[in-house]
Amino acid sequence: MCLLAVSKTFGVDAVQQAFAAGQRDFGENYIQEAVEKITALRDLPICWHCIGPIQSNKTRLVAQHFDWVHTIDRLKIAQRLSEQRPAELGALQVCIQVNVDGGATKSGVVPADALALAQQVAALPHLRLRGLMCIPEPTEDFAVACAVFTRAKDLFDSLNRAGLGLDTLSMGMSADLQAAVQCGSTLVRVGSAIFGARDYGAVGA
Ligand SMILES: *Cc1c(COP(=O)(O)O)cnc(C)c1O
Repeated sequence: MCLLAVSKTFGVDAVQQAFAAGQRDFGENYIQEAVEKITALRDLPICWHCIGPIQSNKTRLVAQHFDWVHTIDRLKIAQRLSEQRPAELGALQVCIQVNVDGGATKSGVVPADALALAQQVAALPHLRLRGLMCIPEPTEDFAVACAVFTRAKDLFDSLNRAGLGLDTLSMGMSADLQAAVQCGSTLVRVGSAIFGARDYGAVGA
């Protein structure tokens, strides 16, 4: 189980404190904010994960600064990241974001298209496809959360039966990580339960 500490809206001091306590994987949503932190903390051996949506005009910054991207949901973004990945950094580790519960406003590929996108992404030279990621609608109901996470786990297993060799199922946040872990998550993305409540007014996207 990997614990990803989601440090969006928190400053470099918060990241340094968590690092001193032994945390090595950090997640960020907003590219500009992230690049500032990554640059300020470049002397620390931190593994940085991009977990926010990526516009085409931000792919170069992402390819240059991050170790992982969890939010691949279309081939065009994956192609740009592969083309723009600096050779000396090695492959960018990526997950495909899947819209498992059909939320209309959410990003993510529909489950029926996940296999085809995964095969195309896996063929790109400077990316390494590691798994799937999902962000279900928040619910108080443990059984409902489990039903959705189980759909993601079933899709993950079916892609592996198709030979994709995935090892990462990125699901679960502060409010639903227990259900996610019970249903097969290998990586939980936890922000407020580690750093406290976020103040979105303090930081621009
Ligand atoms: C902010 C965020 C998280 C962390 O959320 P918390 O509820 O603070 O744990 C996890 N995943 C994604 C994609 C996020 O944007």
